[in-house]
Amino acid sequence: MHPGPRRQPSTASRTLAGSIVVATLVIGAVSGLTVMQMRSSAWDQVGQVSQSLLESVEHMVDRNIELYDLSLQGVVDGLHNPEADGIAPSLRQVVLFDRAATAKGLGAILALDAQGQAFADSAAVVPRRLRFPDADFFLVHKEREDVGLYIGTPFRTEPDGHWVIPLSRRLAYADGAFAGVVVGTIDIGYFDTLFGRLRSGDQTHIAVFRERGELLVRNPMLAHAIGKDLTAAPYFRHFLQERSGQFVAVSDTEAVEGLFHFTRIGNRPLIAAVMVPTRVIAELWRPKAMAIVAVVAFLCGGLIGLTLVLQRELERRARAEERALAANRDLARLAHTDGLTGLPNRRHFDEAFAQARAEVARSGLPLSLILLDADRFKRYNDTYGHLAGDEVLRAIARVLQRQVREPGETACRIGGEEFAVLLPGASGAEAVARAERIRQATARLQIPHIGNEGGGVTVSLGVAEALSDETDGQCFSAADAALYEAKRQGRNRVVSRSCGGDDMRVA
Ligand code: GH3
Ligand code: MG
Ligand code: MG
Repeated sequence: MHPGPRRQPSTASRTLAGSIVVATLVIGAVSGLTVMQMRSSAWDQVGQVSQSLLESVEHMVDRNIELYDLSLQGVVDGLHNPEADGIAPSLRQVVLFDRAATAKGLGAILALDAQGQAFADSAAVVPRRLRFPDADFFLVHKEREDVGLYIGTPFRTEPDGHWVIPLSRRLAYADGAFAGVVVGTIDIGYFDTLFGRLRSGDQTHIAVFRERGELLVRNPMLAHAIGKDLTAAPYFRHFLQERSGQFVAVSDTEAVEGLFHFTRIGNRPLIAAVMVPTRVIAELWRPKAMAIVAVVAFLCGGLIGLTLVLQRELERRARAEERALAANRDLARLAHTDGLTGLPNRRHFDEAFAQARAEVARSGLPLSLILLDADRFKRYNDTYGHLAGDEVLRAIARVLQRQVREPGETACRIGGEEFAVLLPGASGAEAVARAERIRQATARLQIPHIGNEGGGVTVSLGVAEALSDETDGQCFSAADAALYEAKRQGRNRVVSRSCGGDDMRVA
């Protein structure tokens, strides 16, 4: 079996496929929206948590610096008090550093003279021999008198190597001339511990920067990055654009992409930032989204698979139906065809004749009928055998097929060696002429028939023209009578008869 031309899918099959495509698209769109919704709510949730964490960090740092500043101011005030000059060093130390001693996380407070040399020390009655003539927290006050509280570049203390942030204030003589600075340090570890408690172990990063770019505090601790100038980091420029805000950038300290929330700390030159790696945010929504996508993909796949199966079944049924119709058509055709000659049979003739008569009654056009009978055919069979007789019948059929080919005309085998020709639109005279051509064409076959007059196969033909008001069978009887007459007159001829009368014409 070879494949036939590709069939067009049936309407049912197309409708099914269309609805499934639409259903799949709708399901896909709805699940896509759901996934996007999950993503944005995860980002919102992280944003809110980050924002409130950032506010706590800002408040905490600001409050602590304010407290430290109070300690420093206490020392400045003490030193500016002329009464402090005269008292004993041990008493002076208690008076000067009394407020400082209670502040948590504060390192030693030093008072430096105009050359940067320590002359008072909260950690020792006799000041340690410490000098900071080149430190930024010293120079800034030496150069300018309006700095107020200065937050300096972080540095490591000697000898324990702790990172500290220096905070300093200016000392001045009564005339305003530079007299030195009071400097204290905050241990970065102190903030680190505070931030660690805030974070409570999640993956958030908290950092505090100087506006100038140095990283001051980072939790989790990142010792190698403390004090580093990060102004070149891709995220740092965002900090300087606004007082507070949020953005997504890569943190170059760890090459991790994250969602940053940041704010200036009070009116200080400090920036607090909270960063949540985007990977962490993704973990909040992606596994659920993946599950949804997997389920939806499975459902859609199943739906499509089912559709294909259904479609194939529909196609199979349509094909079977088509085959059954074709078989019925064949059967119908066979039921109307004569097996020996391939011409339409008696049944077909009866139907076609009835239909043609009805047409005549409607249109008023003429209709003629020719009946044809092989002459002395019994003798032919007897002489040449039945099979040869069959061959003669086929030869006569071929003559009819050649002679009767106008649209609407029909030639049928209506009995053993009898044929009929229906000629709608043909008058009796035209039918007689056509019958004569058929007679001559048969004779021209020159099939030997020694039992027949003339020695060859011949046919006799009776012609009748139907009347528009004729009763059933009148025309057929007239043609039959004409045929009988042709036989009686000696065969191999055409005789016509009108349905109404009995006048006869011999061709
Ligand atoms: P007439 O000229 O008067 O028609 O004589 P006839 O012998 O043709 O008429 P008759 O009716 O006596 O004989 C008809 C013969 O046709 C009888 C039968 O053997 C033959 N016949 C009928 N059907 C077939 C057929 O299908 N094949 C063959 N070979 N012969 C058939
Ligand atoms: Mg006969
Ligand atoms: Mg005959």
